[in-house]
Amino acid sequence: MQWFGKGSNNVEDGRGSGGGRVALGGGVGIIIVILGLIFGQDLTGLVGQMPAIEQGEVKNGIPARDAQAQFVSGVLESTEQVWEAEFTAMGMRYEQPKLRLFTTAVQSACGNASAAVGPFYCPGDYKIYIDLSFYDELKNRFNAAGDFAQAYVIAHEVGHHVQNLLGTTTKMEEARRNLSQTEYNRLSVKLELQADFYAGFWASKAQNLKDFRLEAGDIAEALNAANAIGDDQLQKQTQSDVMPDSFTHGTSAQRMYWFKKGFETGDFKQGDTFN
Ligand SMILES: [Zn+2]
Repeated sequence: MQWFGKGSNNVEDGRGSGGGRVALGGGVGIIIVILGLIFGQDLTGLVGQMPAIEQGEVKNGIPARDAQAQFVSGVLESTEQVWEAEFTAMGMRYEQPKLRLFTTAVQSACGNASAAVGPFYCPGDYKIYIDLSFYDELKNRFNAAGDFAQAYVIAHEVGHHVQNLLGTTTKMEEARRNLSQTEYNRLSVKLELQADFYAGFWASKAQNLKDFRLEAGDIAEALNAANAIGDDQLQKQTQSDVMPDSFTHGTSAQRMYWFKKGFETGDFKQGDTFN
């Protein structure tokens, strides 16, 4: 996919080096101003003569040269546009989620998490959390490479945010009290599959955005990722037996089915995975 938008400003850079680079970027400009004062000339024109992307330049709160983080910001912006339009059509306001980049471990309103849990959404603070090294894992461990596979991961997490805004998440938590673990897991699978449907719905609508271009092979990349990170595959990789009752995300086939349904129908109302 290609994205020509300016990127979302809802990305928070919680990775170690982010803050330092911001200071450096500002520092170059300040030094030029100070030199100008010393030499009695206005040297600020020099700033304009610098190459388009300067080392340390920051765009939307993240280093401009960090292509992967900028890509995430672009995908997030496209989800904002798609869901804003859909919520407006439903007569509702879409409150945009934040996306926090982290490395190794992070604190969220849902508790502490290590990168090992993979990307997640916390309903308590309306934030998506991702350690970008997950994308290496996606490529190397799950054999799901490609930019659209990466986009699918973000769109799925945004799907959980949509469920939160629509009250689905709260209903789930209420139901949990009266359910056995097995029953709750079954319900949880439906929630996950709906997030996959929402990811497919996003892809369907995003391809019509003016700044978005879907490329050949994109949908195959997303389906491949959905296939690769289904619970049956995850469990095959980690233990010998597949145990359907402990599934929380759905099988590979289910995940692909719902992503595809969202993409092919582009109809929000078709996303009832519960009934
Ligand atoms: Zn999920």
